Amino acid sequence: MYVLDSSAFINEYHTDERIATIPLVQEELEGEAAYRFDALEGSGMHLHIPEDNTVERIERAARETGDLTELSETDVRLVAAAFELDCPLVTDDYAMQNVAEKLDVSVEVIAREGISETREWLFQCAGCGREFDENHDRCPVCGSSLSRKNPA
Ligand SMILES: [Zn+2]
Repeated sequence: MYVLDSSAFINEYHTDERIATIPLVQEELEGEAAYRFDALEGSGMHLHIPEDNTVERIERAARETGDLTELSETDVRLVAAAFELDCPLVTDDYAMQNVAEKLDVSVEVIAREGISETREWLFQCAGCGREFDENHDRCPVCGSSLSRKNPA
């Protein structure tokens, strides 16, 4: 079984595996993609609702990787569904891929190449230039704001 995110419906992702998604995805789809969702649901697509404690676990992992602010509630719940069903998550979303890999959830990409290893974000202070592994609201040294930067 594969868990599909919204972009998988929009980009007409096709697989012969059984597929699953979460009810929130339906609300993000319009037009052709919404019809596709309805058709797949009619032909046996599994709609999964993850447990709250799994959702919290995903949020903790996302906070650790620095991806939580990039993820919608739908994104977090999709990762949670793949985690509970123990099956691959189909997504092109970079932050979701990062969190999935942190949790040993395998990822199938729709269009792009996947990332090969979990990337730890760095957060750099706009004031003193110090870099931190974890995000803070303010730089603990000088109190300026932090911004996320890609590690080299
Ligand atoms: Zn600073």
